[in-house]
Amino acid sequence: MNSPIDWRAEAARLDFRNQAFIDGRFTPAISGKTFDTISPIDGRVLAHVAACDAADIDRAVAAARAAFEKGSWSEVAPRQRKRTLIKLADLIAKHANELALLETLDMGKPVRDARGDVAAVAECVRWYGEAIDKLYDEIAPTPRDALALITREPVGIVAAVVPWNYPLLMAAWKFAPALATGNSVVLKPAEQSPLSILRVAELAIEAGIPAGVFNVVPGFGETAGQALGRHMDVDAIAFTGSTSVGKLFLRYAGESNMKSVSLECGGKSPNIVFADAPDLDAAAEVAADGIFGNSGQVCDAGSRLLVEEKIHDAFLAKVSELSRKYKPRDPLDPDTIMGSMVDRTQMDRVLGYIETGKSEGAALKVGGKQARIETGGFYIEPTIFAGVDNQMKIAREEIFGPVLATIPFSTADEAIRIANDSIYGLEANIWTNDLTKAHKTARALRAGVVTINTRDAGGIVVPFGGYKQSGFGRDKSLHALEKYTQLKATYIKLG
Ligand code: NAD
Repeated sequence: MNSPIDWRAEAARLDFRNQAFIDGRFTPAISGKTFDTISPIDGRVLAHVAACDAADIDRAVAAARAAFEKGSWSEVAPRQRKRTLIKLADLIAKHANELALLETLDMGKPVRDARGDVAAVAECVRWYGEAIDKLYDEIAPTPRDALALITREPVGIVAAVVPWNYPLLMAAWKFAPALATGNSVVLKPAEQSPLSILRVAELAIEAGIPAGVFNVVPGFGETAGQALGRHMDVDAIAFTGSTSVGKLFLRYAGESNMKSVSLECGGKSPNIVFADAPDLDAAAEVAADGIFGNSGQVCDAGSRLLVEEKIHDAFLAKVSELSRKYKPRDPLDPDTIMGSMVDRTQMDRVLGYIETGKSEGAALKVGGKQARIETGGFYIEPTIFAGVDNQMKIAREEIFGPVLATIPFSTADEAIRIANDSIYGLEANIWTNDLTKAHKTARALRAGVVTINTRDAGGIVVPFGGYKQSGFGRDKSLHALEKYTQLKATYIKLG
């Protein structure tokens, strides 16, 4: 039997990559500037990381373009890209503990969750690698005197700008399909969580991805992120983050070169529990995990819990009881299921929403306070509000923390009306034993993902993305490839 890992001892041995990764090597920012990356576990500085700005972005985009034009990745046979990506997936799996530890230290998620995330990252890279030599192009049904080929070509330079809540997984959902289709990538991680992806960039070279094809430029949104959004030689932006920043990327594209933009943005997802749910205990477990997992820093968190009136009090009691399990603890303890918030700013923001909920007249049933203050880290208790009206700010705005808003309803039509009364449309969950009601409700919900009597089913094989201001374009599945390729129609006259 393997002896348990001493994560603190492992952490003390870690080496941090703290420079930009451009054209196959680590390099400081041209300005020489750095920023501190702080561990939310205890508030200590982990590393001083290169603070890239427009000059570094120019350098990274030029390297990406040169690699693309050279064709050593963009023009190799798909089966060759497949082999390399599978090798990268193997290397990610081989270094899983190190990568998980980097994520935990950098953003405070429990190490057991981080290990699960890294496994999903390896699976994602492997899946796109395996897919890419099994895709065929089309021939159009033209008259016999012509041949029309419809082919998909890589867009060229893909800039990926990603958030901190699943630092590697959100990155992999972009870079794996973008690389599989032959593009060069310039990726900007969130300033809160640059460490794990810098290590993966190094592994990409070890796997055989040519220099310049995969670049990572740490830095702030307003400098590095904006420079990518406005760059005249970036062909596509793949963004995951808040709706407000997503809107900026639309503006950047319109004011520069009309690069294509795909947006995976925020959510305020309704989790609808009917009285005839097949298993209310299972529904309660999922409701708790859906808002307290990853400290609620999840784009499709089930943050609005809609419960049918006749079971409302009993169901709320079950979820409240389960919330005790999520008491924040040391993220480096392998048994911990709820760690810290990503940073002080996010913690203060969430605590501010809790005050708003109280002043709006919602009933605070569980939690509501900062926790583990003595550690110097940024923790919040699992928090549940009852008696929430869907017009309250805590039901309308994305809190991105462990704060559940419970809203009663009496009919399916009312549940659908409340669920759809949101600017967001990322995900919705339904719990019922009635197949007709389940299907009618699913059809009526304006959300990119709907789950029935489960949550988060499907893994990499189903598309993920939102309706309305949750964005457009899809990550995961073969549909993600649409964002990184463009169609070419080639007509040939045959006599
Ligand atoms: P954010 O929008 O603040 O930042 C996301 C990225 O954009 C970061 O890399 C950041 O540096 C960059 N950025 C920030 N300001 C910028 C600017 N002015 N110009 C260019 N780039 C800029 O989001 P966040 O706080 O890192 O992440 C949380 C958000 O991400 C939530 O709204 C969450 O719902 C969303 N999210 C969505 C999905 C999804 O798949 N739909 C998945 C995860 C997270």
